[in-house]
Amino acid sequence: MAGALPSGRRLSCVMRGIDKAAPVRHITAAPMNLTDSPPRVRSFGHIDTWIFDLDNTLYPSSCRLYIEVEQRMARYIMDELKLDLEGAHALRRRYFQEHGTTLRGLMNEYGVEPRRFLDYVHEIDVSGVQPATALGRALAALPGRKLVFTNGTRNHAKRVLDRLELTHHFAAIHDIVAIDFQPKPNAAGYRTLIETYAIEPRRAAMIEDMARNLPPAAALGMTTIWLRGGPHDEVDAHYADAIHHTIDNLTEFLGALTPAGE
Ligand SMILES: [Mg+2]
Repeated sequence: MAGALPSGRRLSCVMRGIDKAAPVRHITAAPMNLTDSPPRVRSFGHIDTWIFDLDNTLYPSSCRLYIEVEQRMARYIMDELKLDLEGAHALRRRYFQEHGTTLRGLMNEYGVEPRRFLDYVHEIDVSGVQPATALGRALAALPGRKLVFTNGTRNHAKRVLDRLELTHHFAAIHDIVAIDFQPKPNAAGYRTLIETYAIEPRRAAMIEDMARNLPPAAALGMTTIWLRGGPHDEVDAHYADAIHHTIDNLTEFLGALTPAGE
């Protein structure tokens, strides 16, 4: 298996709150909790469909899984475009900003075949991911349909969800292939999502660690929840306007919606 962990490195994949002392970068402050910004805050009683991002949302960034994916993206670029490591990471970051994903940039500028790239970058070691027992309990108690919407592949999502023991909570995985390789935050993928699963946007909530993926959901009428503390923690004014709730811990947030005994 490619992507084996360096010796001595341990994965820490337990869902927990972020270190409150850790710096959080904000260009413009987003609502800090459920009560900081009442005009944006919405209730959840009407929600019948919950849409979850996968990477760094259903498992914490401390798992470092996505860092391994990014490293394999860089290695792919090094091999294909004959760049050094620094150049490959610089190109990957530019594509992320300009095209939404590294893949989209490689497709647009080099005509890269997407499935081969996706198979390569997702060939990571997930053996260190532990069952997310508390999150599983919170999902089980949460009324409504749950879907995964990811810029990765269905196979990657399935491998990770199986390790987390969360697969059975989700009715479907809407992946990068299903959205014709037009990644979030491209609005076309959100429209495909709601059409495919007959989602009424005003009765749907979307949870993401990347704030920049929330504006298209909000524009459709969805309630948006930003899980901060991930590696892409920047929020500018445009994203902040599209964030209805900001949370630090997904398990605690979902648990608070369905108190024990209800
Ligand atoms: Mg994510």
